[in-house]
Amino acid sequence: MEEYVEAAIAAGLREIGFSDHIPMYWLPAEQRDPGIAMRMEELEEYVADVMRLRERYPEIPIRLGIEADYIPGQEEELVRILQPYPWDYVLGSVHFIGEWDFDNPARTARYAEWDISELYAKFFTLEAMAAQSGLFDVLAHVDLIKKFGHRPSHDLSRLYADIAETFARAEVAIELSTAGLRKPVREVYPSPGLLRECCLQGVPLVISSDAHHPSEVAWGFAGAVELARQAGYDRVVRFEGRQRFFEAL
Ligand code: FE
Repeated sequence: MEEYVEAAIAAGLREIGFSDHIPMYWLPAEQRDPGIAMRMEELEEYVADVMRLRERYPEIPIRLGIEADYIPGQEEELVRILQPYPWDYVLGSVHFIGEWDFDNPARTARYAEWDISELYAKFFTLEAMAAQSGLFDVLAHVDLIKKFGHRPSHDLSRLYADIAETFARAEVAIELSTAGLRKPVREVYPSPGLLRECCLQGVPLVISSDAHHPSEVAWGFAGAVELARQAGYDRVVRFEGRQRFFEAL
């Protein structure tokens, strides 16, 4: 974690947020993969680690975040897990359709079982539910379903307009994440068309790199700022104690 903070300082960032994956709270303990997310016993330690970093690096604000899966029907359990800690922000994400972790490179065979248009509709229904749950400050990688390059043949503008409107009504922010450029789809999350719709509807934006290694801190940010501007954004949002603060882009 020290290396991430040092990379942020070296990159000239004005703050850095940690958002490790929440324990896989919706699964029975024996099905939780410790290679994907921390164990429940580690959550307290993770928070303490971020607090210690704040003392060690007073020169850069360090935000306490977490990436939490949205699983329909598990909302109360999520609230219970999040409740004890002083989060600056909670990222919401959809990585599962039923029990299928569709973004797992080992599970791509299942795309063949789907009509891709129906799959997108199903995915965005879950994104809409995540937004409407009110549990999250920011929705992460809001078009993750494209990760391996699966795209419906029909035009997505109606779908994009509807989901952007849902985000706006739910008063949730989204991230522009450069992680997609490092994945088979080779495109930021979200796609330019969806980003433009979100801007039109007034959905606040966070720029992130979803770093899973210190070398990925602020990865591709210059290009991301350019894309945000092209989509119409002139400000971004940051979070402190789950309150929003807007900054000029
Ligand atoms: Fe994620």
